[in-house]
Amino acid sequence: MTYQSGAGSVLGRLGVKDLVNGHHWRTILGGSIMPPEVVDAMAEAAGRFLDLGELNVKAGEYVAKITGADRGMVTSGCAAAQVLQAAACMTGTDEAKIGSLPDTTGMKNEVVIQQSQRNHYDSSYQHAGATLVEIGGEGGATRAELEAAIGDNTAAVAYVWVMRYWGLSLEEVIEIAHARGVPVVLDAAAELPPVGNLTKFVSMGVDLVAYSGGKGIRGPQSTGMLVGRGDLMEAAWENAFSYDKARAGIGRPMKVCKEEIVGLICALELFVDADHETEWAEWRAKSASIVDHVKHVPGLEARVHEGIVYEGPGSPTALVVLGEDWAGRSPEEVQAAMLEQEPPIYIGVGPEPRELWVAPVALQEGEEDLVARRLLAALTGE
Ligand SMILES: *Cc1c(COP(=O)(O)O)cnc(C)c1O
Repeated sequence: MTYQSGAGSVLGRLGVKDLVNGHHWRTILGGSIMPPEVVDAMAEAAGRFLDLGELNVKAGEYVAKITGADRGMVTSGCAAAQVLQAAACMTGTDEAKIGSLPDTTGMKNEVVIQQSQRNHYDSSYQHAGATLVEIGGEGGATRAELEAAIGDNTAAVAYVWVMRYWGLSLEEVIEIAHARGVPVVLDAAAELPPVGNLTKFVSMGVDLVAYSGGKGIRGPQSTGMLVGRGDLMEAAWENAFSYDKARAGIGRPMKVCKEEIVGLICALELFVDADHETEWAEWRAKSASIVDHVKHVPGLEARVHEGIVYEGPGSPTALVVLGEDWAGRSPEEVQAAMLEQEPPIYIGVGPEPRELWVAPVALQEGEEDLVARRLLAALTGE
C-alpha cells in the first residue's frame, strides 16, 4: 500500500488546511519547510535500529565542528536546549543533583536576566527548577545592576540575542559574568541565517548557546541544538541522556528521535553549503515586489526593511508604515482581513504602532504575488 496524498491524506481526512506564512519561521505556523533531502534522510533513519546515544554523540561532533564549540548535541528545540542550559549550570555532573531537579535544594539556582529580555521562552529555565532574577528596567540593566545581582547563588546569566537592542551588550555580560566565574547562556533560537552566527557566539565566549533547528536551518520542526564548553556540555548531556542512572534527568521528556537527529544533521549540511547571498537577494526581491504593489496607496509608506523586525533575524522584509493621517484599517484590522479568505495569510504587525510587515522567508514559490494582491485589497478595504 502506498501513502495517499491530497484529499485522502491524513491532513485531508483530519481537515487541516494549508495557510500562507508571511510571518517568518514561526513555530506555531509550522516552522519551516524541510528540503526533500532532509525528508529522505529521515525516512532512511526511520527504517533502522541504532544506538540513539551513539547517534547523538556523533551528531554532536558534527555540530561542534561547524560551530567551533568543544561539544554539541541535538535537542528537542531551542526551548529544550534552554532547559538543559539551566540544568547543566545548576547540577554540573553531580548524579544526585541531576536526579533531584527541578528541586534545587543545595544548588546554585539563580539565572540572572535583564528585564528588557524577559520573553515567552524564558520559562524554560524555570522548568529546570531555576529562579529567574530580573535586573534593570524596560530599557535594560546597567553594569552595576548586573554586578550586584551576581552572588553565591548565581548559576548563570542568560542573554537573548534577538532582544540585544536594549540594555547591556552580550560582550559586557560575558565580561562581567566571567570575571565572577559565572557562565553565560544564550538564546539564539532564530538567529540562523546569517550563517556566521553558527560560530559567532562560541567565539565571543558564550558558555552554552541554544539554537532552533526548525526555523532558518529548515530541519525537523521540533529539533534544536546546544553547543558550548566541554564541562557544561557534559553536564547538559547527563541531564538529557541519563539512561545509565537510576532516575531519568529533567531532559528525558525532551527526547529527540533518530529521524529528527538525522534530519537536523542533513539540514545543517545543506545550510552550511547553501548560497546564502543568493537566498538573501531572493528575499529582498520578494519583499520589493510586495512593496511595489502597495506603495502607491495614499497615506502610507512601504519599503524593504533589513534589520530587526519583531522576532525576526533581520532578513529582508516588506514593511508598511501607515501615516499619521491614515483613516483606513489599523494594522491589526489589516492582519485580520488577511486571515479571512482562503488560504489565510499570516502577516506581522508592530513593533511600532502603525507598522505591519510581510516576511518572505517562509513564502513558497509564487506566494508573494498572492500576498501582494491580498495585502493591497486589505489595505484599501476591498
Ligand atoms: C522560537 C524561539 C524559541 C523556541 O524555539 P523552539 O526551537 O521552538 O523550541 C526560543 N527563543 C526564541 C527567541 C525563539 O524565537
